[in-house]
Amino acid sequence: MYAFQYRRPSSVEEALELAAADEEAKYLAGGMTLIPALKHRLSSPSQLIDVARLAHLQRCERIDGDTQTLWRIGAAVRHAEVAAHPGLAQDLPALTALAAGIGDPQVRARGTIGGSVANNDPAADYPSALLALNAVVITNRRRLGAQDFFQGMFSTALEDQEMIFAVEFPIPKRAAYAKFPHPATGYAMAGVFVAQHLAGDWRVAVTGVGAGVFRWVAAEEAIAAGDPVPALERDDLMEDMHAPGSYRAHLASVMLAKARGELAGGV
Ligand SMILES: Cc1cc2nc3c(=O)[nH]c(=O)nc-3n(C[C@H](O)[C@H](O)[C@H](O)COP(=O)(O)OP(=O)(O)OC[C@H]3O[C@@H](n4cnc5c(N)ncnc54)[C@H](O)[C@@H]3O)c2cc1C
Repeated sequence: MYAFQYRRPSSVEEALELAAADEEAKYLAGGMTLIPALKHRLSSPSQLIDVARLAHLQRCERIDGDTQTLWRIGAAVRHAEVAAHPGLAQDLPALTALAAGIGDPQVRARGTIGGSVANNDPAADYPSALLALNAVVITNRRRLGAQDFFQGMFSTALEDQEMIFAVEFPIPKRAAYAKFPHPATGYAMAGVFVAQHLAGDWRVAVTGVGAGVFRWVAAEEAIAAGDPVPALERDDLMEDMHAPGSYRAHLASVMLAKARGELAGGV
């Protein structure tokens, strides 16, 4: 590990000031990804600015709008808190189930939704929920739709020192998530999030299978038309020591069928 300074600001304003004054500083949330990266000397920030205790990032609230109800989940809300949240379980059970299936109890006790989204691991669970649910990422500078936020493997639209404040999820008509977890880590070998929005349109998002989370548009069209879903075809299928791309693509079809079976009312 390279030497760095640890900072624990007491407000978002202070955290942003610290970051603005040092372009080599990095935000620290649960540390589940960043700390191992430091240990392996893959990252050498000058300062770690701990955002995990900032009250502004810890809120989890339901917002009832005129046309749409949504949940705004603060960036520092931990996976275990999402998994156990009674209001979220009522409105968005697919999301609480997703959070309950991340990693293991230790990872869920530390890892945060903001850290997961900022990291954009191609096998992480949350990005598929954001994409399928048309979520919006709120930062200190702007609001970004999930479609524009995720930009490929470990890559997002976040600019230097931009801080995620929260993620906003519109409540869909119905939704379900199914994943085939890697047996050692829990990361998705294939994870499929299916959502039907209030207007009736379908969204299917896939993680663990490509070079980043992606929409499976052919599956959305087939479900809407009541047709059988075609095999997943892509030229960026993830290939690694755990599975070839063709196996992951097949798993995506199996997970899609599982998620459809879990949707309230079936489809
Ligand atoms: C053993 C293990 C198993 C895991 N299994 C799974 C799994 O099954 N599914 C899954 O989805 N994930 C899994 N994870 C990942 C984990 O869930 C965390 O979500 C992830 O590591 C990042 O979250 P964090 O809060 O720990 O972020 P950190 O590690 O603290 O930070 C990660 C990155 O996000 C940046 N960041 C953090 N907060 C903000 C913010 N508010 N604004 C801007 N940038 C920010 C940091 O600067 C850093 O670059 C696993 C991790 C481990 C170690």
